[in-house]
Order: sequence, then C-alpha cells, then structure tokens
Amino acid sequence: MTLKPSDRILGIDLGTTNSLAAAVLPQGPEALTPPGAPGPLVPSVAVRVEGRWVAGRQAVPHRLTRPGDTFFSIKRLMGRGLEDLAEELPRIPYRVEGGDRKLVKVMADGQGFTPQEISAQILKEVKAGAEAALGESIRRAVITVPAYFDDAQRQATRDAGRMAGLEVERILNEPTAAALAYGLEQKAKGLVAVYDLGGGTFDISILRLDGQVFQVVATHGNTHLGGDDLDHALAEHLAARHPAAPLAEPLAKAALLREAERVKRKLSAALECDYRIDLGAGALSGRVTREELNALAAPLVAATLESCRAALAMGQVDPQQITEVVMVGGMSRVALVRQEVERFFGRRPNVAINPDEVVAVGAAVHGHMLGGHRKDYVLLDVNPLALGLETMGGTFTKIINANSTIPAQATEYFTTSADNQTAVELNIYQGEREFVRDCRNLGRFKLGGLPPMAAGLPKVKVTFTVDANGILTVAAEEERSGKAASIEVIPSHGLTSREIDRIMEDAVEHGMEDLTMRQLVEFRLTAQAVFRGIEKAWPQAQALFTPETQQAIRVQMTQVSAAAEGRDPWRLKAEMDRLGDLTRPLADAIISTAALRELKEFYQEHKERETP
Ligand code: ADP
Ligand code: MG
Repeated sequence: MTLKPSDRILGIDLGTTNSLAAAVLPQGPEALTPPGAPGPLVPSVAVRVEGRWVAGRQAVPHRLTRPGDTFFSIKRLMGRGLEDLAEELPRIPYRVEGGDRKLVKVMADGQGFTPQEISAQILKEVKAGAEAALGESIRRAVITVPAYFDDAQRQATRDAGRMAGLEVERILNEPTAAALAYGLEQKAKGLVAVYDLGGGTFDISILRLDGQVFQVVATHGNTHLGGDDLDHALAEHLAARHPAAPLAEPLAKAALLREAERVKRKLSAALECDYRIDLGAGALSGRVTREELNALAAPLVAATLESCRAALAMGQVDPQQITEVVMVGGMSRVALVRQEVERFFGRRPNVAINPDEVVAVGAAVHGHMLGGHRKDYVLLDVNPLALGLETMGGTFTKIINANSTIPAQATEYFTTSADNQTAVELNIYQGEREFVRDCRNLGRFKLGGLPPMAAGLPKVKVTFTVDANGILTVAAEEERSGKAASIEVIPSHGLTSREIDRIMEDAVEHGMEDLTMRQLVEFRLTAQAVFRGIEKAWPQAQALFTPETQQAIRVQMTQVSAAAEGRDPWRLKAEMDRLGDLTRPLADAIISTAALRELKEFYQEHKERETP
C-alpha cells in the first residue's frame, strides 16, 4: 500500500517508558492508535533480533528472554556521557560503553549503537503506526523533551528524529505541550503547575503564562521515582502473602511484576481487584483493595509532593498562586495521587485529557499551529535571557531583552568616555541583572584603529543579531571612521534551563536593589560629566552670572557632590536638577561649543550611552 504524502506535522511524545504520536484531525486533536493495536502507547523498547531491529510492543517480551540486548529507558542516556551516568549504570542490564566525545554506546550483536540510534528505532515504530492510522506518509514532527533537558539532550533528540526520517520542526518542552493540549495559552496570564508521574520518572514544572508564551519558572523532580516503584512494592506485597511460592525464579518474578502492574492500573478505577499468577505447577490468586495499594503508594506520593514544594520554593511561588494544575503521566491516574495533588495545590487538577496522551496531543496542537493552521496563537522560540554590553561603571546595558522572539536584531549607538580613545572594548554579557558582575560573560572584542577624537564624538553602532538557531553575532562600527569588527557566540551554550530559571529568579529577587544601584551609578556619571562641563565653561560663566549666582552654583555643586556620596539616587537627581536650573543660561549661551558637550548632553538628556 502506498500512502499519500502529507505535510502534516505530527506530535510525538518520546517517553522513557512509552512513546506515542498524535495529530489534529477534523474532529480535534487525538492520540493515534495503529490499526490492530490495543491503544496509542508504543513501549519505548527496542531489541536486536537476528541482526535486525524490533521496536515497540513486539520488543517487550524480549526484555525477559534477552535482557542483554533489549534496550529500554534509553531516554535516560540521550545526550549524556559516561561521567553523567555513574548513578544510572548499575540499574541497566544491557552493556553501556563510553564513545567519542559526550556519547555513550550500547552493545548488541558485538556492535555499538548510540542512544540516538535506539531512540530512532522507537520513533520509526511510532511514525509507522501513525502513518498506518492516518493513511498518510509523514515526514515532519514536533518531538517533546522534559523541561530540564540541556542542549546536548535536546540535540540528541533532534538527531534521533532525523535518523528516523523525520524533519524535526521543533523540540517542545513536555509541560508546555501538556498546557497547550488544555488550551491554557488562551488565558491571559497565570501560573501553571504540570505534575508528571510516569513509569520511572517524576517531573514537576511551574510555567508562567504571559501573552501566550509559556516560560519555565522552575522544575524539580526525581529521575528514579514512578510507576515501576509502585509495581515493585505491590509485587513484594503479594509475594509476602505466598511465602512458600517459588517467586525468586526470573520467569515467575516477571509474571508477578506484570500482574502487579495490571492490578495497580485496575485499582485506579476499581476499589478492589483479583489477581492470579500462573506458575506452571500451580497458580497464586487473591484480592487486593485500593486501600492496600494506597498504603504502598503513600511514600511515593509524599516524595512527589516534596519535589512540588521544592519547585514552588525555587520559583518563589505560593501554592495558592497556581492558577492551573495539569496532570500528566499514566501514574497520575492513581486515585491517591490525584487526591493528594488536589489537596496540596488546593485546586482541582486538569485530568480531562488522558494523562499518558496529553503531551503528544499538545505536541500535535503545536505542530498544527506551526503548519499555519490555527493562527490565533503562536508559541515562538524566545531568547531566554537578555543579551547586552558592559557600559560605564560596570553596568549591564541590555540590547536584546529576555523573551524576545528569535530571530531578533537590535541596534544601539555608543560613544567614548575619554578624549583621543583609539579603541573601544565591547564586553558581551548575558543575564537579567543591572551589573555585569552578576551576569555571564559571553566574550569580548576590541574595535581598534579609531582616529583620535574628543570624548563623545565617535559614533559606535553596535548591532546584536540572534539567528533562528540562537547564535548571536555582535557587530560594531564606528560610523565616522568606518572601522568595524564583529564576533559570533552561542549564548545558551552549556546553560541548562534550570540554570536559566535560576538566573531569572535571582533577577527578580535583586530587582529593586539592582535598579537603585544602577540609577545611582548612572546619576553619578552624569554628575561627573556635568562638573567637567562647568569647569571648562567657567570663564564664560564668570562673564554671564553675577557673583551671587556664581556662588550659588558653587554651593549647589557641593550639594550634588554630597548627594553623590550617598546611596539615594533620587536625592542625587533632585540636587542635579537644581544645579541644572541654576546653570541653564550658561548652557544656552554656549551650546555651540564642542568643549561643552557634557553640559549639552545634560540639558538635552542625550540618549547615547558611553562604553567604558
Ligand atoms: P513515561 O512518560 O515515563 O514514558 P507514562 O506516562 O506512559 O510513562 O506512564 C507509565 C506508567 O503509568 C506506568 O508505570 C504504568 O503502569 C502507569 N499507568 C498507566 N495507566 C495507569 C492507570 N490506569 N493507573 C495507574 N497507573 C497507570
Ligand atoms: Mg512522559
């Protein structure tokens, strides 16, 4: 059967335990169930069988019979090096070896495969299932990743998509996808908590919604906490009821675990459930109540709430400020989980969309938008932190603001602060604070070879450009001499989203004090320039003003100096305004004199800034 080619952008949730695809159909967004499959979930498992890959549902039974070359939880290895995985390796039954650079390889058939290649096999299975469900051949997709994934992990995911024959249109944060699935971006403003309890991982993300853009305020979680833990706890609980049964044997153990998982799921809807474990020689059976399961789940749920508390603290958010709670992950169906999350946030969580499908559904909605189908909202790539330059007094001048959509470009003019400066140094920073000492240095370069000119005369045009890939180019040109220089840097390189969140939080925390300090520094610099101007123009002042006025100007200058010593920018500003009123006739009289530029600027409230 040949499928008709389609421009549709599929949404794919590439999960640790399960993966799936969703698409926006005429009746609305939906998770796609491949024909003949029991549901849309594709187990994130791949195995080498006779030199070929088998992935998804068909691969699952091999976990038991060929644990050495059946790969699961491969998401944990994506974009990680051996040194990142020290904690992970003892839990993994297949062989993992160090590869080139930050890559590991898993071994099968005496060959090494990268986690990207394994994930690609899972994605191929998901893609094929979606194509069969839609009757279309798909080439474009949005793939989701946890909010805390760093550049390398995101890149690895992108590569896996490409290896699976997909054009990855966007890598989207899982919590953002879940919020999009509920259409929460339509609300004007708010704080959304996304609680995601999956098979082996727990993530809590706090998102701030502002103008249809979700920003990650804080994330927390546990990479080894999830449904698997409850399955094991329930299996142990059942085994303890049958002390004589030979349950240590691998096949029996697996059967027990499988039955525990089934019972756990049943108990999300039912208050009790019968179990039966066939052991060849005989069978074990009995009944488990939801209460028993709740008792086993309680410590796990408590641990997730600890993470929620930590995330709220990181984001400096009170539970009452949360406007929406979104439940994600198969395990969030467990009754106790819903109940405790509702109690914790003091509000009813969003559970209407299947929690194991909601991320894929949101990715599909996003893909649909990207495909130009619903223009009423657009989620754009944004520049996460402000980019700018160091200016006089160690201040940070932002050129491109945080949350600007990329590609972005902005230009500002600067000048020199000393006479006959033949070079200016451009020192590039990234951050949200008012002083560069609290920001991250991205690089510096010198614009040299300037002809000697009086301070303030050079016109240095500085252009910041961030391209669609997030690469920043800073170009500087002195317009009078035509001298130019530029540099290229990757601003977010090595910055994880957690670090970005931290930087944002620091900026909020220190916002007021930073701003006051910055204002003070700027007013002090202006005062110095004005004093220089007055001294230069003093001969004219003596001709222009009566001795009383000259005296008053001198007195007011000492008032300004005194205020400049203090820490109150507004007092300094008031004293300078008074000095301005006294000396205005002087400025008016000599406004054409180049030497009096300092005063001119003061009166004209010149916008140009000075580089150090
Ligand atoms: P991941 O995001 O880690 O790939 P999922 O969101 O698919 O994982 O969650 C898988 C987990 O959800 C498994 O532990 C599974 O047993 C559990 N689960 C699925 N359905 C239910 C249910 N109805 N009740 C309780 N747990 C469930
Ligand atoms: Mg998931």
